[in-house]
Amino acid sequence: MYDQNNIFAKIIRKEIPCDKIFEDDKVLFFNDINPKANIHVLGIPKAEVISFSDFITMFSESDIKYFFQKISEIIKKFKLDKTGYRLITNEGKDANQEVPHFHVHILGGN
Ligand code: 5GP
Repeated sequence: MYDQNNIFAKIIRKEIPCDKIFEDDKVLFFNDINPKANIHVLGIPKAEVISFSDFITMFSESDIKYFFQKISEIIKKFKLDKTGYRLITNEGKDANQEVPHFHVHILGGN
């Protein structure tokens, strides 16, 4: 069951701040508090969804497409399409998923 008090839920509700890059009514992108690369952005849907598996099975094709299109726009915003990047999503305990709200890490630079 989705934990409404996870840290990203609090960020969405603006109960705690974030270093925001892009936000609309469906998605939020912000800098990771503990960056593992020069550019380390986290992208989240503004919905109660724990994991990639839940997102891909429980959400509409248009919601899924919208989220990944926004990821593509953020990649271009930082010109990572020119230099290269990694997209990572961790799911479950073997992946050490820390925050139980589905998120994609966008990592670029060195
Ligand atoms: P996970 O292991 O769940 O895929 O990664 C969670 C990520 O969230 C980590 O990279 C961690 O640094 C980041 N993070 C945890 N708490 C906060 C926070 O309060 N603010 C921001 N901006 N990032 C956070």
